[in-house]
Amino acid sequence: MTIGVLAIQGSVIEHLRMLDLLSVEKKEVRTKKDFDECNALIIPGGESTTMLSLLAEYKLDKLIIEKVKSGMPIYGTCAGMIVLANLGLIGIEIKRNAYGSQLDSFETVLTNIKKDQLGVDQLKAVFIRAPQVTVVGTGVDTLAQYNGHPVLLKQKNILVSSFHPELTDEMYIYKFFLDKIVSP
Ligand code: GLN
Repeated sequence: MTIGVLAIQGSVIEHLRMLDLLSVEKKEVRTKKDFDECNALIIPGGESTTMLSLLAEYKLDKLIIEKVKSGMPIYGTCAGMIVLANLGLIGIEIKRNAYGSQLDSFETVLTNIKKDQLGVDQLKAVFIRAPQVTVVGTGVDTLAQYNGHPVLLKQKNILVSSFHPELTDEMYIYKFFLDKIVSP
């Protein structure tokens, strides 16, 4: 089982470090060959506009759409969530940078979460120029909310969060992704 981390831009090292701590086989993904060697993919936070144009340039966008549609598990954090929404893979609408600028970044503890699914009753979350989910389509399950806004959502094999779990010291979301989505 190898988890890829899309490594063209953004908080790649932080995700790789978390996978290391979980003793999960990991791979930086930059090419089709890298991607083909993975069972699942994480798209990190960063800058979604840059990521989307690089994905198009490397012809990885169509490949991601193809693989995710055929069931490959994928987790998009922050900009990664925007990328997945933009590629039309998850049925949500998003407002970018809804929590303000870099200086407005914050860490919080989410308590409005689906305990039965996540196995815990609170989660640490770091928001950095985070997007807000404004519309949740049918088939999309909201797993956590912050101030009444969905911040962690799942649609079949797709997981997205508007925050960064890789910047906390908690592994719960990774464990959820691995245990409930990658190898249920
Ligand atoms: N604001 C960024 C964007 O719109 C996302 C920020 C992040 O990933 N931390 O792409």
